[in-house]
Amino acid sequence: VFPSRSPSALDCNAPDLVELLLQRERRVLLLGPPGIGKTTLAGDLVRELDDRGRPVWCLGADPGSPVSGVPGAVCLGHWTQGVWVLREMEALCTLDAARFRLPLVSAVARLAQLAPGDTTLLLDAPGVVRGVAGAELLESLVRSAGIDLVLVLHREGQPIHLARELHGLGVELAPIRASRQARRPGKASRARHRTRLWETSLQDGEEHLVSLRDLQLLGTPPRRAPEAWQGKLVAFLEAGRTHAMGEVTGMQEETLRVLLPAHRRPTGTLLVRDACRGGDGLIGTAKAFAAGLVHYVPPPDLLPDGAADAPTGVRPVVQLGTAMAALVNGVFGDPLLHLRLRHQRRSLLFDLGEGLRLPARIAHQVSDVFISHAHADHISGFLWLLRSRIGESRACRLYGPPGLVQQVRSFLSAILWDRIGDRGPVFEVTEVHDRCLRRHRLQAGLAEVAFLAASAEDEFVLLQEPGFRVRYTVLDHGTPVLAFAYEPTVQIKVRKERLDQRHLTPGPWLSGLKQHILKGEFSSEVTLPDGSRATVADLAVDLTLAKSGGNLVYATDFADTAQNRQRLIALAGGADTLFCEATFVDQARDQARRTGHLTTRGCGEIAAAAHVRHLIPFHFSRRYEQEPWRIYQEIAALCPQTVVPKS
Ligand SMILES: [Zn+2]
Ligand SMILES: [Zn+2]
Repeated sequence: VFPSRSPSALDCNAPDLVELLLQRERRVLLLGPPGIGKTTLAGDLVRELDDRGRPVWCLGADPGSPVSGVPGAVCLGHWTQGVWVLREMEALCTLDAARFRLPLVSAVARLAQLAPGDTTLLLDAPGVVRGVAGAELLESLVRSAGIDLVLVLHREGQPIHLARELHGLGVELAPIRASRQARRPGKASRARHRTRLWETSLQDGEEHLVSLRDLQLLGTPPRRAPEAWQGKLVAFLEAGRTHAMGEVTGMQEETLRVLLPAHRRPTGTLLVRDACRGGDGLIGTAKAFAAGLVHYVPPPDLLPDGAADAPTGVRPVVQLGTAMAALVNGVFGDPLLHLRLRHQRRSLLFDLGEGLRLPARIAHQVSDVFISHAHADHISGFLWLLRSRIGESRACRLYGPPGLVQQVRSFLSAILWDRIGDRGPVFEVTEVHDRCLRRHRLQAGLAEVAFLAASAEDEFVLLQEPGFRVRYTVLDHGTPVLAFAYEPTVQIKVRKERLDQRHLTPGPWLSGLKQHILKGEFSSEVTLPDGSRATVADLAVDLTLAKSGGNLVYATDFADTAQNRQRLIALAGGADTLFCEATFVDQARDQARRTGHLTTRGCGEIAAAAHVRHLIPFHFSRRYEQEPWRIYQEIAALCPQTVVPKS
């Protein structure tokens, strides 16, 4: 039911306005920023018209702050003898009218057709009145609902939002001065109101169990984890129409428990977006997928000053256990991924693109640089690294495809080193010739290249350390390119409470057990302190927990070939985070083929096939600088694990 009559926007404008509405059957859009009194005005108008015997239908198209009806949906209802009756609704499963404006507009278009022609239709538009989203929404809502009059609420002495767009619409406009008392209700009170409406819609509801395997998922389904589904507002669809809206109250294995209104049953199609009940019990918007884990605003100490203004597009940052990875030059800039191992005061770099300068302190703690290949956008930053390492005695290790030794040597020999003696920066360069690794030592100021060793590598391990290892695979980009996997060591934790329950005393047998688990020797037997024997497999399940820090895979500049796909899927299988190039949109596949790059399709399909938990696409062609969302949309359609930055 509409809120009370005052304070009202109508007081100063009422007579004219009601006459205007009574002239004929009108379709009216109420436009204004949040809190300006649209709701109150709508309520007043409805009552005035109802008093004069004019039937009024209402189309609630503000999914976040609905007057009545159901939040996260577009609702059509009418006002009959002082009672609001909901007739039809179309679920959006989001409160965010700006982000999901396309589904919003199509829902409005359909429901507006259902309102009888001989009535007044009031369309309560979302409070999105700025920018591209506001302009687009206004125009689309007017067209799709056949609006012929727009009531424009504005504050005295303030400009009217979307003034230019309004005049281009070709429909009648009626500016209405907002009441001075009109205030936007606080965030919390809006959330409470919304939650009350939601709970009313589920009164006397029943819980149903549905298997995700049997469902066709639409919208933006979250990853298959209970915490990602808990509390989600969902809608079961039938023949493309909303059959029932409900709430996920639990998830076990692949089965969802969903609360639906009475007498409603699940169908085979489930729509889900970002509306959900939060930890505070209120209906709101779920944090973007992987928020908390992946940010697009890096902490300031990870990137140089001024980074915020650089024209590089978004800069993803990922937290991986105790490590943190930042794509320094963003998704459009030269590739350079900075992986900081926080507890070791040490950094690994993947590629050496030029762009933002990392602080000198970081350059000094770079121990290893993994270079995919020596195209200019991947190695031009070497001069920065070289300069920053003057005065550093420890060698910096570089890894890359054949030719890297000569390339580094040429960089070094391009500079006059007459004052440095034998204190020039040292580089240990490993060239990867398929399975053979060839190591060399180069020092600035010394002409000769020292050959150190060659070794065969069966497991594709480039670097093995107690805390992690880095593996590689060779991809084809018209020239060999390396893709890398950073793999933190799995940690085996002993469950002390289980030891206590089984009266087992800790001892050297436990480290023996851990070794067996780490080596995958699950059928071996271990002797327990009480003299009994048990298999590693049984003990592993009963006594230990395996904890992985999360693998990170970095792959860029390679063609979409069957062999490249197969190799990268093998390297990235089950990885926590895959950074993968997506240079072109699918439509530009010919150009991708010519240049040996991937399209959005290749990127999304590889990540989906590798079952990675997060996909972070990057190395976008600059031609998409104005429309990065196009790339994200295409990839996310193929791989729901794509981390899409919030707009
Ligand atoms: Zn490149
Ligand atoms: Zn390249």
